[in-house]
Amino acid sequence: RGVLVLNVRIAPVADEYILLLADDRTEITRAQAIRTDFVANVSHELKTPVGAVGLLAEAIEGSADDPEAVRHFSRRLHKEAERLTSLVHDIIELSRLQGADVVQQGKLVELNRLVQDAVDRNRLPAEHKNITVKVGGSAERPVHGDPELLMTALRNLIDNAIRYSPENTRIGVGIRSRDGTVSISVKDQGPGIPESEQDRIFERFYRVDAARSRQTGGTGLGLSIVKHVMAQHGGEISVWSAPGQGSTFTVTLPEVDEAAERDLERGEAE
Ligand code: ADP
Repeated sequence: RGVLVLNVRIAPVADEYILLLADDRTEITRAQAIRTDFVANVSHELKTPVGAVGLLAEAIEGSADDPEAVRHFSRRLHKEAERLTSLVHDIIELSRLQGADVVQQGKLVELNRLVQDAVDRNRLPAEHKNITVKVGGSAERPVHGDPELLMTALRNLIDNAIRYSPENTRIGVGIRSRDGTVSISVKDQGPGIPESEQDRIFERFYRVDAARSRQTGGTGLGLSIVKHVMAQHGGEISVWSAPGQGSTFTVTLPEVDEAAERDLERGEAE
């Protein structure tokens, strides 16, 4: 931060003069560092489950005459395979979102429906922990974007709220239109996040409690994906949280006004 990377070339042009060419490499260098970092992180994250799959396969082979042990190791093998699947899925999703202009041909998206769908799709894990998810409020106008990406973002927030909350708690999902924007907030009664960690949780693979994240099936990429989906839609994400007082994640998106809606509808009809 605060460092400028310049590629400077000096060329003599006349007896008393030199030409100094400075090429600003700051952004390129930063992008390269982020990529190198990402690859290093991905390799590190993949090593553990890939190693475990190998060891568990060996353990199954070695317990051929003990059906109970075979069942036990197979269950664990299945879990590691699932973990690998979500990790690879999230890595691909995030790499795609880091590219330029993912949302090229956006659509008009009705958020009220989308939010309800996102809640419905997380119904099973919520029921499993006896967590009630309640939706309140509504959006007055649609937004413009990619419904699948917006669905992914909402599901990630609801999924986190369910995973980090204790059993028998409540999650509130609120939709609200204001000043040309619509915000959706997901409020849980989970453990909360210390203020010092609140900026970092949006970084790739950053977890406040790595053991808890892994144990609940997290990849450490969920919030990073939400952040990128919002950036691709001209929106943003913020968090309010305090230890012991739960967390509220809020995403805000620009609404489409009536004139733009007519233009878009005409475009979609053609
Ligand atoms: P993960 O797959 O680990 O959940 P995320 O990127 O979704 O990855 O979240 C990053 C970290 O932020 C989590 O590991 C967890 O420590 C914290 N976190 C996210 N959502 C919540 C929440 N609703 N309540 C408490 N902590 C949360």
